[in-house]
Amino acid sequence: MSKKEREIREQRYSMESNLIYGKSYTPKWDFEHHLIPPISSSATFRLDNVQRGAQGFLEYAHSDDMIDQEAKKPIYIYDRLGEPNKDMLEENLAFAERGDIAVTFATGMGAISAIFGILTLSGDQIIAHSILYGCTYSLLKNWYPRYKIDVEFVNMLDPEEVRKAITPKTKVVYFETPVNPTLELIDITEIVSIVKEANKTRNPENQIRVVIDNTFSTPFCQRPLELGADFVIHSLTKNIGGYGTDMGGVVVGPAWSRDWLLLYRKDFGAALGPKSAWNILVYGLPTLPLRLRRQQETATTISDYLCNHEDVSYVNYPGAKCFKQTEIARKQMVDYDGNMAPGSMIYFSIKGDTPEERRRRGEEFINYLASKAYTITLAVSLGNIRTLIEHPGSMTHSAIPAEEQVKEGMDPGGIRLSVGLEKPEDIIKDLQAAFEEIKVAV
Ligand SMILES: *Cc1c(COP(=O)(O)O)cnc(C)c1O
Repeated sequence: MSKKEREIREQRYSMESNLIYGKSYTPKWDFEHHLIPPISSSATFRLDNVQRGAQGFLEYAHSDDMIDQEAKKPIYIYDRLGEPNKDMLEENLAFAERGDIAVTFATGMGAISAIFGILTLSGDQIIAHSILYGCTYSLLKNWYPRYKIDVEFVNMLDPEEVRKAITPKTKVVYFETPVNPTLELIDITEIVSIVKEANKTRNPENQIRVVIDNTFSTPFCQRPLELGADFVIHSLTKNIGGYGTDMGGVVVGPAWSRDWLLLYRKDFGAALGPKSAWNILVYGLPTLPLRLRRQQETATTISDYLCNHEDVSYVNYPGAKCFKQTEIARKQMVDYDGNMAPGSMIYFSIKGDTPEERRRRGEEFINYLASKAYTITLAVSLGNIRTLIEHPGSMTHSAIPAEEQVKEGMDPGGIRLSVGLEKPEDIIKDLQAAFEEIKVAV
C-alpha cells in the first residue's frame, strides 16, 4: 500500500478506531506479523558496519535529509536517541493531537523543560498563567531566573493581561486549561489571536509560541493545535497512560521542532524508557476514548450531586450545571465527534465562614475518605482508573505561596477529585459518608 493509500485508509475511520490501530503502517517495526508490537528492551543496537553506524549518526535529528520520514527504516543506535516503542508511541500521539510531530520524554516535567529549553535563551521572557502545576511553577519561579530567563506570571482568565505583558523579549506564552487545580478555563482562541497579532510585526525567528499543557483534557477532550496553539505538552503519567503504572511526557508540535527536541532529549537525557512507552502505546492510548467517556459521565453525575449539596460552596467542573464558564467549555472542550467533552477532573470547596474553617473541614473530609472510603483514595496524580482525591493547597501546589494561591482563586479549602472508572453510585456513597462525618465533627 502506498503512503497516500494508507493515509486515505486512516482518514476513512474515526479517531477512536485510529487510537486502537495507530498509524496503519510504520517502518519502525514488523507489523505484518505482530498484532501487538513487541516490547523492545535494548539499550544499544547492533550495527552491521561502520558505514551504517555513520549513516545512523548522520540521519539522527536531521529530518531534512530524509526524503520520506515515514517510509524510511530508521537506523537505531542507542535507546536515548530512539527505539521502536517510543517512536511508535510518538507517531500515534502526534496523530491523536493532530500535530505534525511528537517527541516523548521520561516525565511530563522532562517534556516541559524541553519545550522551554528549545524556545528560550538567556535574556528572553516567558509569560505564564499565575496558577500552574506545582513543579512547573517551581521550574519557572526558581530555576529560570538563574539562567536570566525572565518569567512574568499573569492572570490569563483575562486574555488582555497577556497583551499587556508582551515585550520584545517575549518568546513563550504558557498555560494549562483547564487550570490545575481550579478547573477554570483559559480561552485558547482569544490568547492565540492576541499572540498572532503581536507576531505580525516580528520576523520568523522571533515569533512568540503558544504552549499549552493539555494534561487535564487529553486530546480526546481538547486539541489546542487545531485552535491555533503552537505546541501541546502532556504528562503521559496521567490520563493518557491511564492506569498509573508508568511515567512519561510528550511535546507535540510543528515539523521544524522535531530535530531540536530530539537533540535536546539526547543531550539533557530525559528519554522515556521503552517498557513505559510500550504500556502507554498498547494499553493507554487505545483505551483513552473508552475511559474518558465513562469518566466524564460519572464526573457529570458527581458534579450534579455536589452542586446540589448544602455543604458545598462551589463546584468547578466544565460539564457541571453550576459551572460559570460553560461558553468557553463548549467552544474548546470537544471530543473527536464534536460533542462537549468536559473531562474527568472536579474542583470543589466545602462551606465555612473563614478560610481556616474551610481548610479544616476540607482536611477532615479528605482524611475521613483516606481512612474509610473504598472507591476514593488520597493520592496525588490524576487520570487513573481509580478515583483519587487530594488537597492541592497543601500538596501538589504547595510550591505556590499561600497568599499567592488565595489571590489567584485557589480556595484554602479547595479539594481536587480525579474521577476513575468505579460505579458512580459507589463514589457518591463514599462522598456522602464523608459529608455526614464533617457534620458530626461540627
Ligand atoms: C503531573 C502533571 C505534570 C508533570 O508531569 P510528570 O509526569 O509528573 O512529570 C505537568 N502538568 C500537569 C497539569 C500535571 O498534572
